[in-house]
Amino acid sequence: MRAAMAAAEVGDEQEREDPTVLELERRAAVLLGHDDAIFLPTATLANIIALRLLSQPGDELLAEATSHVLIYELGGPAVHAGLVTRALPGSDGRIIPEQIRAAVRPPGMHFPPTALVSIENTHNSSGGRVWPLEEIRAVAATCRELDLRLHLDGARLLNASVALGVPAAELGCEADAVTLCLSKGLGCPLGAVLAGSADLVERGRRLKHLFGGALRQAGIVAAAGLHALDNHVERLADDHANARCLAAGLAGAGLAVDPDSVETNFVHIEVGPDRAAALARLREHGVRLSETVHPTVVRAVIHLDVSAEDIDEAIERIPRALETRVRA
Ligand SMILES: *Cc1c(COP(=O)(O)O)cnc(C)c1O
Repeated sequence: MRAAMAAAEVGDEQEREDPTVLELERRAAVLLGHDDAIFLPTATLANIIALRLLSQPGDELLAEATSHVLIYELGGPAVHAGLVTRALPGSDGRIIPEQIRAAVRPPGMHFPPTALVSIENTHNSSGGRVWPLEEIRAVAATCRELDLRLHLDGARLLNASVALGVPAAELGCEADAVTLCLSKGLGCPLGAVLAGSADLVERGRRLKHLFGGALRQAGIVAAAGLHALDNHVERLADDHANARCLAAGLAGAGLAVDPDSVETNFVHIEVGPDRAAALARLREHGVRLSETVHPTVVRAVIHLDVSAEDIDEAIERIPRALETRVRA
């Protein structure tokens, strides 16, 4: 990837003269099932631009209660798009058409108009759970019927695609806008893309400038994205296999892990009320896990820098580190 970055052909991206960025945008549009795509520095910015393009200030956004747009973007939908946000309780991060139907506000002089739904695939807070194609289609059909726009926060859409064995375009084409993050499992130093119709993307390019996200010789980083699309997509299956292996090993060692909930590259471990102490002890044993939105749960994230040997090692060290807690 670093060699591809060093060799990248570049130009002024703001003038649409960077051939590597243009190539990444073309590839990403096809990959995500849309006319066109915009290269952006982060998936957070992609989400914000999408939500703003698909709504008017004062509109209401429906999203699952623990979705990234609601809890990890500092209120961005309110700050940058003027949206009223409405959290719907999910099951493994997913909401169903009946919930959307019940939540839509009637027309009238008092209510914020419900305009927009955002879904997340894979769903981060639930532990990388996957939205199956049929459920996305059902939600998309309901949105069309109710005249709501649909955004897909597909930061990890390629994990979902690989886990389901369904092309990302089939998942992506159901939504009006799709975010893909290049700096998660795809392993790029930075970058994201936002895909949509030609009209949406044209308007999105203006917002990219407005938010200060228009770049210059960005081909240096777009080359990393192209390298990742060529080399780091199918291998996501290895991360998923490693995650399942870790979950099975930890459950076998008696830890509170549910292997059946591992669908992609995260493993959630229940560690009890003193999570900070558990994380500190894990770090002392050379294992870095992270917090989750669930107060007693930590998570392991498997990615291309974690090998099968690392997993074997983690299966030894994690129970040892957490056992200390029980005995202390
Ligand atoms: C990480 C993440 C983002 C934001 O990605 P950045 O590129 O770090 O801004 C958006 N949505 C989801 C679901 C994520 O996990």
